[in-house]
Amino acid sequence: MKNIHRLLIGTSIACFCGVYSGYAEDNHDHDHDHDHHSEHATEKRQLDSHEHGVSILKIAVEGQNVQMELESPANDIIGFEHAPKNNKQKVAIENALSELQDAAGIFFPSSEANCKIDENSAEFEIEEGHSETHSGFHVIWKMTCSDPKRLTNLETTFFELFPKAKEIEVEIISESGQNAIEWESDMKKIKLPTFIK
Ligand SMILES: [Zn+2]
Repeated sequence: MKNIHRLLIGTSIACFCGVYSGYAEDNHDHDHDHDHHSEHATEKRQLDSHEHGVSILKIAVEGQNVQMELESPANDIIGFEHAPKNNKQKVAIENALSELQDAAGIFFPSSEANCKIDENSAEFEIEEGHSETHSGFHVIWKMTCSDPKRLTNLETTFFELFPKAKEIEVEIISESGQNAIEWESDMKKIKLPTFIK
């Protein structure tokens, strides 16, 4: 299952100008480190290429381990993509991070599969380009499902929480296959492909 891990980890080892982590409250200045130019360029391409209204959810199933990784344009979540300029905007980011880290989760696999969240992290990531600034929220859930054979569908509160979000492009990968699903905001749940069972 090396490939899955590389695929999922690949997007999270990026270097950003500013990362507001759900873990830390650090307010240190983010001096631009010019040694990191190449990573910036890579990440800028990713954020520039995001489409407002469209999030990406990667789901990897490996036995009882299920990892979900969400990338959402910040515009969909908080309505702006620049660094916070005042307290109200800082609070908006903090509130979004805590909603994305709700202990119950915001994506709910079939209850019969008996999944629980082991780890959850959320970050607000900014990339300031020469002409445009984009930013996004990056959320990871690591779950254990005691009966993964009964993972048949996935529900979400994401579209209710963040009405500017219109669609999630879901990519599911397991040892026995991979699939993509377009999750429109009017769909309360999606059916998961049978190959993950
Ligand atoms: Zn953007």
